[in-house]
Amino acid sequence: MAHSKALLVLENFIAGKFVPCSSYIDSYNPSTGDVYCRVPDSGKEEVEAAVRAAKDAFPIWSSKSPLERSQILNKLADLIEHDLEGFAQAESKDQGKTITFARTVDIPRAVYNFRFFASSVLHHATECTEMASMGCMHYTSRAPVGVAGLISPWNLPLYLLTWKIAPAIACGNTVVAKPSEMTSVTAWMMCKLLEKAGMPPGVVNVVFGTGTKAGEALVCHPDVPLISFTGSTLTAQRIMEKSAPHCKKLSLELGGKNPAIIFDDADLSQCIPTTLRSSFANQGEICLCTSRIFVQRGVYSEFVKRFVAETKKWKVGNPSDPTVDMGALISKEHLEKVRSYVKKAQSEGARILCGEGVDSLALPAGNQKGYFMLPTIIAEVKDESCCMQEEIFGPVTCVVAFDTEEEVIERANGVKYGLAATVWSSNVGRVHRVARRLQSGLVWTNCWLVRDLNLPFGGMKASGIGREGAKDSYEFFTEVKTITIKH
Ligand code: NAD
Repeated sequence: MAHSKALLVLENFIAGKFVPCSSYIDSYNPSTGDVYCRVPDSGKEEVEAAVRAAKDAFPIWSSKSPLERSQILNKLADLIEHDLEGFAQAESKDQGKTITFARTVDIPRAVYNFRFFASSVLHHATECTEMASMGCMHYTSRAPVGVAGLISPWNLPLYLLTWKIAPAIACGNTVVAKPSEMTSVTAWMMCKLLEKAGMPPGVVNVVFGTGTKAGEALVCHPDVPLISFTGSTLTAQRIMEKSAPHCKKLSLELGGKNPAIIFDDADLSQCIPTTLRSSFANQGEICLCTSRIFVQRGVYSEFVKRFVAETKKWKVGNPSDPTVDMGALISKEHLEKVRSYVKKAQSEGARILCGEGVDSLALPAGNQKGYFMLPTIIAEVKDESCCMQEEIFGPVTCVVAFDTEEEVIERANGVKYGLAATVWSSNVGRVHRVARRLQSGLVWTNCWLVRDLNLPFGGMKASGIGREGAKDSYEFFTEVKTITIKH
């Protein structure tokens, strides 16, 4: 297709330098449907150069003290924060999310990821035990693993990429990162700041391109001993297969089908606005978003009435309008996929309470070709329906009634995923009981998305393998050794 002169053209960042690529792919602005950026279509050759640069940088970077590395991470955090607005504008344009979300969630968290790991890496201690009867003491030592391959998705682009880069380099690894081909701009902007932050060339390399070309070249590279991946369960299965011959260390953060369980004694004035956010924030494109709402029969009608009324108030439109609650979905294909779930539900006899196919969406003139849809609530849907079983990853949530605690635990656990769950009740005993029995890596009670980065993040079942967080990321990005000394 023809390109206007104003097109943004990205370049790979290898060994501290921007390098052009021989071929490029188009990247769309989801809120207008226009191509606005060209992203390198990297493959084996580019990945090879990046891995070589990372390998060359490893001896010096890994021998720096944690404090020296920490200072560079903090400086990088300051530089990103200094241009927070520029990064937020770029993230919103590239991803379709609202400027408000990018300003208040994505970019502040990217900054915090660097600050957090700059600090936490200073506070780890290794273990020591004594075996007096044998005249021995044992201790553990930890060392960075080498070149880390980092692969991230399109929903929270800089937020999730830095959640990997920060701990990897804080621990002394060097990295080759591959952001999603659909949202590469903020990673490229971050690369422009690395030299000023004092990052030695080759410590952070970024190759842009598709998963099947650039991603797989990284996964299959024999000199990349660990892969940290966030994305879909399907892609993770392929990564496991492709990396198996090399026995790579893998951290896999995958999809979810997250339940919210609302008991009769829940405080609905807190629960409804939070469930609205947990269902539709970032267009429902967060792995932690609620997509199955179980409401106890006694409050079902009241919950549904108020929840639908609040959902209908959400404004969908131009992401750069600060009064807008929901922006555009990532791509035309994804929009069609999300819509197809609503149609499927309808054909199965479910009721659409608001949104897609029921209400009309008025968009500004400049956004008519954007990938928008209204937040949609589906009711009277069976637990076996694909809408209750598969990850939709869009602004669609299902609401169903339940009677007993025992029943709802079984139904909530009745999916292949196990990432996040939300429980609403004022009964403390019940909250603990239910939380313990849910098959879910994270359980929020009477709140949602409140995170302490010190604690483990990750899913069970098809939602992932491994955990990330202060201690977990440290353990993943280092190799431990037990040393025994006889005296
Ligand atoms: P995706 O799996 O299609 O892509 C993720 C990344 O992997 C992209 O960079 C992509 O280019 C790359 N990739 C694709 N195929 C590859 C291959 N064969 N080898 C190597 N890399 C490959 O996922 P997506 O559509 O970008 O993101 C949405 C998914 O991510 C959802 O399932 C969502 O739940 C999940 N997600 C999970 C978390 C979490 O922390 N658990 C967070 C955000 C998103």
